[in-house]
Amino acid sequence: MNNSYEDVFTEAEQLLKNNQDHDAEEKYLLLHDKAHKELSPIASFRLGEIYNRKKLVKESSQFHTNAFLQDPLLANKLIPETHPMYHFNYLSFKEPEHKVTACPLCSLQGELHSCYNSLTNVDFVQGFNPVRIWMQCRSCNHIFAHNYPIKLNKILTNSSPELYFQKRVETLPIIGDIFSNIKRFSKGSKLLDIGTGAGEMAAVAKEFLYSITGVEIRPVYAKHVSDTLEIPIVKTDFMHYETNELYDVIILGDVIEHTPEPLKVLKKVRTLLKKDGILWISTPNFESGYTAIMKDKDAMWRVCEHVNYFSYTSLLKALEISGFVCMEYSASKRFYGSMELIVAKQ
Ligand SMILES: [Zn+2]
Repeated sequence: MNNSYEDVFTEAEQLLKNNQDHDAEEKYLLLHDKAHKELSPIASFRLGEIYNRKKLVKESSQFHTNAFLQDPLLANKLIPETHPMYHFNYLSFKEPEHKVTACPLCSLQGELHSCYNSLTNVDFVQGFNPVRIWMQCRSCNHIFAHNYPIKLNKILTNSSPELYFQKRVETLPIIGDIFSNIKRFSKGSKLLDIGTGAGEMAAVAKEFLYSITGVEIRPVYAKHVSDTLEIPIVKTDFMHYETNELYDVIILGDVIEHTPEPLKVLKKVRTLLKKDGILWISTPNFESGYTAIMKDKDAMWRVCEHVNYFSYTSLLKALEISGFVCMEYSASKRFYGSMELIVAKQ
């Protein structure tokens, strides 16, 4: 009898490979209903993904959660042994979560948008629920996380994923072009790099003779970059950064999607900019050409740390509310599916 279940599973996997969701769904449902110890949890996970594609978000979330309840060690069936979360135990996840339904830009109630298992991404961080629900505000065309840990800052401060630590040296020439372009908009040399990360932006900014201050929430990264580049990096959440300085250029690279209160961050950035200063901002765009092609295969849907997913439209709205005007839009050459904007004070 076991053999026949395995045959059903093999057939379902083949159908899924051929993008025949409808036929695969029938077979996975059969396995799911039979409560097969080995195969039902993976069938539930697959159903979670299929129902997400069908835009049945509640059902998708139930299947994704069920998959873990059926097998708390499901990770070792989904991801390779080399993955840092291979031994993840769902029962270890006990963090209380915020359950957000109001758009962080306009406060209107959002609609369920999609549901993903973020554990399969290599950037998963312990403390996050691997089952992520995204909501969408139709008014702002903005996507935001429905669920994220209440102790978000504590989890970020105490974790230091290797992945973000790796310096992507191949991006340095691209960053060089970014600063050449920034120089066209602002000649000044005082620069604030918010969310310094592995320090690639700061390294090239130094090459361009900027006087740099960095702000970084993760102490391990802050120390490493400060030691390597010999520049001051303040170890704090940007919202707690205190200074009397004003800057010519502020870099907000791949940061705004990490904060539950993007408007507060943008408004604070504005207070730190000189009158003719400029803000360079980079963030994933869910309406990018890349995401349009990749659909649910785009890994950005599964980044647990991201609590906002902007479109060009929603980012413009956030900037407008915060007192900025967009000078230039470009598609990122550093990350597929990200956008980069140069903005000035209104
Ligand atoms: Zn909204």
